[in-house]
Amino acid sequence: MDVYGLIGNPAGHSLSPPMHEAAYAERGVDARYVTLEPDAARGAAAIDAADTLGLAGLNVTIPFKRDALDAVEPDDLARRVGAVNTVDFSGPVPTGHNTDVAGVRRSFERFDVPLAGADAVLVGAGGAARAAAVALVEDGASVHVANRTVERAEALADDVGGTASGLDALPDVLADADVLVNATSVGMAEDVSPVPAAALHADLAVLDAVYSPLDTRLLREAAAAGATTIDGAWMLLYQGVAAFERWTGRDAPVDAMNDALRDRV
Ligand code: NAP
Repeated sequence: MDVYGLIGNPAGHSLSPPMHEAAYAERGVDARYVTLEPDAARGAAAIDAADTLGLAGLNVTIPFKRDALDAVEPDDLARRVGAVNTVDFSGPVPTGHNTDVAGVRRSFERFDVPLAGADAVLVGAGGAARAAAVALVEDGASVHVANRTVERAEALADDVGGTASGLDALPDVLADADVLVNATSVGMAEDVSPVPAAALHADLAVLDAVYSPLDTRLLREAAAAGATTIDGAWMLLYQGVAAFERWTGRDAPVDAMNDALRDRV
């Protein structure tokens, strides 16, 4: 039996175990998926320990995604994002990958939203935003990064070849935009949106990375404006799908994984 896992702190709330175990059951893969919660200062040691114990693969979440970049051999995409969220122990050395990029890309594909040539506005400049920025740019969108801390928006925009501003510019930059991604945590703890409702319009496709709750104020206001709305469980699903495919080399049972996820969000 293969053992896969998630390291994070906290990790207990994760929806990854039911999602991956549904995939193992559907595909007849003899595997289990466990959550591991090491001390926040011991991420690299925990990844080494997982390797030593013979785990087949790890997902990595807050606060260990950057530690993982140094603890394993990252691929080009993970280097570009600056974070590893999936480790593969099957080769001679542990390799690091970033499937959050696929999470964003495949979410837009699922909703038939073309990114090539799109004007995209990305709100946020943290880890999720870095993955979203790489996905948007690699798929041919032009990207404007808006963030509460303008310096972080500028740093991310410099890395991916985009433009940057504070949140106050959102009404202006959204007027002609095709795509909006919220990659801040705004909307999780309180029923608030990082984007003024009046700036939303029917020509937008809006992806909210927040998945708890699913029905965020941003998505409710975007739907009311006639926009296409994509909730954060799609991004979560497709990063898991990409991890499953990498680890097992098999097509992921997307519907079974989606059902398992949506039963629990
Ligand atoms: P992070 O690295 O800590 O970044 C947080 C971002 O939110 C920063 O841009 C920060 O702005 C902004 N922010 C926080 N509080 C704010 C406020 N009150 N007003 C305006 N901006 C605020 O976090 P992360 O890992 O990128 O995660 C961000 C969100 O994405 C979380 O909700 C997380 O659950 C979600 N996520 C979802 C998926 C998925 O698969 N659906 C995957 C990864 C993450 P400053 O730079 O100014 O601090």
